[in-house]
Amino acid sequence: MIEQWNDSPGGFHPASAPDYLPVEQLRDLQLRRLQGVVRRAYDHVALFRRRMDERGARPDGLKSLADITRMPFTVKTDLRDTYPFGLFASPIQEVVRLHASSGTTGKPIVVAYTQEDINVWTSVMVRSFAACGLHRGDIIQNAYGYGLFTGGLGAHYGAEGLGATVIPISGGNSDRQIMVMKDFGVTAICCTPSYFLHLIERAGELGVDMKSLPLRAGVFGAEPWTDAMRRRIEAESSIKAYDIYGLTEIIGPGVGIECAEQSGLHLFEDHFYPEIIDPDTGAPVPDGTEGELVFTTLSKKAMPMIRYRTRDITAIIPEKCQCGRTIRRMRRIGRRSDDMFIIRGVNVFPSQVEAALLAVEGTLPHYQIVLAREKGLDQMEVQVEVTTEVFSDKVRSLELLQGQLSHKLETTLGIRAEVRLVEPHTIERSQGKAKRVIDNRKMQ
Ligand SMILES: [Zn+2]
Repeated sequence: MIEQWNDSPGGFHPASAPDYLPVEQLRDLQLRRLQGVVRRAYDHVALFRRRMDERGARPDGLKSLADITRMPFTVKTDLRDTYPFGLFASPIQEVVRLHASSGTTGKPIVVAYTQEDINVWTSVMVRSFAACGLHRGDIIQNAYGYGLFTGGLGAHYGAEGLGATVIPISGGNSDRQIMVMKDFGVTAICCTPSYFLHLIERAGELGVDMKSLPLRAGVFGAEPWTDAMRRRIEAESSIKAYDIYGLTEIIGPGVGIECAEQSGLHLFEDHFYPEIIDPDTGAPVPDGTEGELVFTTLSKKAMPMIRYRTRDITAIIPEKCQCGRTIRRMRRIGRRSDDMFIIRGVNVFPSQVEAALLAVEGTLPHYQIVLAREKGLDQMEVQVEVTTEVFSDKVRSLELLQGQLSHKLETTLGIRAEVRLVEPHTIERSQGKAKRVIDNRKMQ
């Protein structure tokens, strides 16, 4: 499978070789690595040792990959409870990098990397970019934030490892982003999908036609986004928009990526062993069935994670991918159990609202959900921007669109929502992750 590395589109990057391992070989490798990482976690991390002892789960009891279900789960609060360094399995002398994710409340979670961990992270990011058809000669504008957030440096090392030219512009300053994109002949960009939408809009205002630029790929992640959003992005910018997945607790970006088929995300399962479980019982579910995604890091040294519950809802896709990769795929993450809100007893995910809104012509991909409580009853208002043409048209077409959207939302969600159509630019634009839901219920 390893052919001569060439720089043409579709050329094969040597780092991508593990993507194509024969399945049996991959399972063998996973089992060996699993045994190693569980042993390491047991020997060096008090919390893992205590949990395994409590369950009577010994590292040497792992004879097959299926035995992983005997191991205890790890959850986000475990990282908070052991803040800052309590889950490290390496002495600080071997830790070359720390990152942290900003929690919405209280202390952040802190993660550590040895040099070997950084090398693994770089390699999965190289494989991610290669899967999106990027190669040497590409000019990659990295608009993920540099700093404690894993997005910036993760993408940076990956782009350099690929041999591409990386522009470490970081997030923010949209006018400069557009100038650089145009003047430097940028061919690929990394940022959140909502920030890229903002750049498309700003480019239009500055008289820059994004469709005429050399930009051909976007590697978008760090927030959930729908296929409806992808279609809008691709139509308005003439690029291919790829979904990248990762999380700080596991390594950062580069846990999974879409290939040219754009049909689910390949997981780099030689380093991150995926399971899908029933979120209520913790029992594993068969491939193809939706459940909560769980990862065990197979090669992490400084901070191994055993059966980490991501809160992301997805399913493993059982079919082989057309691209020839043997590493498995998962469905795009449309739902995070953390994002879910309950209104009048109904579970609602922002992605359902997004898909419903963008299915109707005349809307713009900028929206916000506002929750309130009036006279003890939960109210949901969906604010969505509409095109200037619709807005400047007669009142009649606004009413028509409003009716269509209300109907679409009601049939999708099973509850009534107020729809408020607003002019373009009304909803605040994000420089990073978009804030989709404003919940005012607790304030009343
Ligand atoms: Zn594929």
